[in-house]
Amino acid sequence: MNQEDKRGKNKASVKNFEAMRKFAETYAKRSDTYFCSDPSITTAVIEGLAKHKEELGAPLCPCRFYEDKEAEVKNTYWNCPCVPMRERKECHCLLFLTADNPFVGTAQELAEVAVDYDS
Ligand code: SF4
Repeated sequence: MNQEDKRGKNKASVKNFEAMRKFAETYAKRSDTYFCSDPSITTAVIEGLAKHKEELGAPLCPCRFYEDKEAEVKNTYWNCPCVPMRERKECHCLLFLTADNPFVGTAQELAEVAVDYDS
């Protein structure tokens, strides 16, 4: 990866982070959902999606454990927006929240906060 494109240790490139930010903001508006009241959660989930997009070519859900990530990408069930989100508006990562969720905030645009992923 190009050095200038590095946002920090264990972070995705600017290009992939911005692509996933844009996706999340657009999808929140389209699905009538909101980001979490704690923006560090939203930032970290978008980072995880961006890293998967970078490593695997698809935004595999970052909040699950997979035996075989490549196989999961092909399976498509957990590619964001996953099937539970598309069918029932269930996002267990707390990225897209319905208005009745106790953790819901009011934003559909990311107020990015500094999060370190050193380990
Ligand atoms: S639970 Fe589904 S909608 Fe939520 S971040 Fe993961 S893949 Fe995306």
